[in-house]
Amino acid sequence: MTLWHDYLDHHARARPDAPALSDSGGTCWTYRDLSLACDDLGRYLTAADVQPGDRVMVVCENACATVAALFATSQLGAVVVPVNARMQAPEVDRILDHAAPKVVLLTAADSKDAACHADRLDARVISGAFGQLAVLESQKPGSAEKDPVSQELAVLLYTTGTTGDPKGVMLSHDNLIFGGGASAKLRRMGAADIVYGVLPLSHVFGLASVLTASVMIGAEVRLEARFSAERYYHALRSGITLVSAVPQMHALVMQYAKEKGLEQLGSPDLRYVSSGAAPLDPDWKRRAESFYGVALQNGYGMTEATAGICATRNEIGDPDTSVGPPLPGVELRLDESVGGGGSGLGEVCLRGRNVMLGYFRNAEATASVLDAEGWLRSGDMGRFDAAGFLHIDGRSKELIIHGGFNVFPPEVEAALNAHPQVIQSAVVGRAIKGDEEVVAFVQVAAGDWPDPADLRRFAAGQLAGYKRPARIILAESLPAAPTGKILKHRLLAHFADQFA
Ligand code: ATP
Ligand code: MG
Repeated sequence: MTLWHDYLDHHARARPDAPALSDSGGTCWTYRDLSLACDDLGRYLTAADVQPGDRVMVVCENACATVAALFATSQLGAVVVPVNARMQAPEVDRILDHAAPKVVLLTAADSKDAACHADRLDARVISGAFGQLAVLESQKPGSAEKDPVSQELAVLLYTTGTTGDPKGVMLSHDNLIFGGGASAKLRRMGAADIVYGVLPLSHVFGLASVLTASVMIGAEVRLEARFSAERYYHALRSGITLVSAVPQMHALVMQYAKEKGLEQLGSPDLRYVSSGAAPLDPDWKRRAESFYGVALQNGYGMTEATAGICATRNEIGDPDTSVGPPLPGVELRLDESVGGGGSGLGEVCLRGRNVMLGYFRNAEATASVLDAEGWLRSGDMGRFDAAGFLHIDGRSKELIIHGGFNVFPPEVEAALNAHPQVIQSAVVGRAIKGDEEVVAFVQVAAGDWPDPADLRRFAAGQLAGYKRPARIILAESLPAAPTGKILKHRLLAHFADQFA
């Protein structure tokens, strides 16, 4: 199979009655239902004159209709641009301008945010019931079907925007098949798996590692329109066998369980839990393993690499703090000319079938990260241990140089996160008098604020003097992307009043 949607077509033919998807709006689809919904939507897109190569933007929450929109677009040879409906209007508009789609679809289970975008963008709202599309069937017969080859562009996926404005990453069918296949193999997925789809389908982790892997294997995905620690907790106790989430979600569900006095999940069905998309600190890993009762696998990836680059072995209590070896088929090397200077630390560069085609409409940015031999610069600083496993110290862009010493935020964050009253933290550098000071933003629970002096002492007990935060700012929420990843480049502006 060479195209992303070939797997869906295969399962719809071979196992039409197998459950494929359900969502929090109450829609449940078999593989046949999903395939029929794609047909319906394909007729609508054809009627809207969507041609191979055209872009179709899908402003979405996780819902059955979203999956139909993704694959229906792919079946036409068009390029799908998934955008999270939870983004604010200016953020959606920036992507709209850049991607210049021919059609905008809006797919959401039950979202107020989504409804607002529909009015603004004059978008077609697609819900779980596809009846309203049937009338369009006769308007235009299917136009000539051109099978795009597997190297052609399938998805335009915008990065999280942790370090700046999101960049449009061009992923081919082959990128997605490689990324989804690697994820399915790593997780030893089978058609009987029931996967919790809480990661947004508009992010590479949800799109490639969760949805694509599941559809390739013919498993079932239970889609969640938005993360809620309470729903997550209960979903995982109702037959889910596999879940992938960002570290922040693991932290929030553990916080929820702690508040309710439920320290262990106790689900007999759950067999695989993974974390990825952001640094996983060792204390969270330990706590999460005791909470879930299964090993927490850590995966390192990025949008430009169709999710996976490296993944850890999957043993409970493994004290390894690496992100593991590269996935089979991915080559890694470190560029020590960046930052390291012979210390073994360097910028992580990678090559393989997972590497993007480039950034959309940004040849300059593409040239700065992708060379002629196919090597991609990740922007992350890493080192190899004796076993050949990769350790990520942090991003080169986020490296804080304080008093001439290098401070990587993840180490400081891990020290703070270990405090029992800290939900999560984010550390950034702030320019001050020719130096950079270490500033920590710490998320705490309402009614359970730690004593700042105690927190400061706690961090000092684990960190060399130059790594200790000069300022610790406590808050009950931090600016985050729809995945839950903290938008670090917004922190200083967001809390500007604290620095006045
Ligand atoms: P932007 O590129 O727009 O600034 P972003 O880099 O956060 O945003 P993503 O593609 O979602 O966008 O994230 C990829 C980055 O996340 C990686 O480059 C790396 O810095 C970080 N990351 C992902 N997984 C891990 C992990 N397991 N451990 C440490 N860092 C990770
Ligand atoms: Mg990035």
